[in-house]
Amino acid sequence: MDCLFCSIIKGEIPSKKVYEDDVCYAFLDINPQAPVHCLVVPKEHIESADKITEENAPIIAHIFSVIPKIAKIAGLTVGFRIVKGYRVVTNVGEHGCQSVKHLHFHILAGKQLSDRMA
Ligand code: 5GP
Ligand code: ZN
Repeated sequence: MDCLFCSIIKGEIPSKKVYEDDVCYAFLDINPQAPVHCLVVPKEHIESADKITEENAPIIAHIFSVIPKIAKIAGLTVGFRIVKGYRVVTNVGEHGCQSVKHLHFHILAGKQLSDRMA
């Protein structure tokens, strides 16, 4: 299966690594939409949040348990100390504007983000 983020996880495509453990990989977004913009992906290929099940939910729980740490490291990686919060977003499908079909959580920080969700 041809998947951009699976290739990034395997190191076949270079990325700026922020964090890695057995379950997930985090790296800087190539086209940042905020001073800090990091993506967190499960190492197991899951298409989107719409494919979360009871079976793979522990992966998602793990990712959220390390997001506070990843957010801090992502900030430091780009020379920014996150003190005023951040946003965690996942886009799902066409109407959700998901462009890469491998579940990923955006971590955005480093400026006052919009109060609009859509
Ligand atoms: P989506 O639109 O699917 O929610 O988010 C996909 C994200 O992946 C976008 O923010 C885009 O900038 C990022 N992206 C796409 N291709 C690459 C790549 O090759 N490397 C990195 N680091 N980010 C990418
Ligand atoms: Zn994948």
